[in-house]
Amino acid sequence: MSHHLLSDSRLESFLLEVDRDLAQKARDERCPHCGEALHSGHYPRKPRGGPDGLPAELRLRFSFSCSADDCRRRVTPPSVRFLGRKVYVMAVVVLVTAMRQGPTPRGLRLLQRHLGVDRRTIARWQRFFGEIFRASSFWKAARRRLSSAVDEERLPRSLLDRFRSHARAFGDALLELLRFLSPITVRGALSAEGA
Ligand SMILES: [Zn+2]
Repeated sequence: MSHHLLSDSRLESFLLEVDRDLAQKARDERCPHCGEALHSGHYPRKPRGGPDGLPAELRLRFSFSCSADDCRRRVTPPSVRFLGRKVYVMAVVVLVTAMRQGPTPRGLRLLQRHLGVDRRTIARWQRFFGEIFRASSFWKAARRRLSSAVDEERLPRSLLDRFRSHARAFGDALLELLRFLSPITVRGALSAEGA
């Protein structure tokens, strides 16, 4: 993965918007332990593969702490910019992997080059979705909440197609898919069932 990955400012602000949205949702739900209000406790973190000169705001991992003195529990909402320990830019991965699996659109080669994603990286992420993600307890639970079956041989493309059938614009579908996938950024969500 090259340093071009985060060079598109529109992508950066798109991902930031998704994370803001997820953070607001977590804050509205208050402390999961005692129900008290949450205070901001954001901290800086550098996405791996991102350029060093990233503005401070883009490196901020949104996080909260409980306002109750006897609780102080930390609540870190899911993030689409920080993929758990792997710390990856999930939108790019999902987008490029999904495009790779579909009928090759005109812009794919350009997008691959622009984002600095090579074939090996895409192949690695196809294996991630085909093996680790597919076997995870997150996916097994999430699959049951979907009203119709999704072709597991074609993940994540089949998921994106599913969200596209509900959303008018491609960007909205991608946004919905990222929200859907965001819990896997929380530690433990990708553990295999029964493991
Ligand atoms: Zn609390």
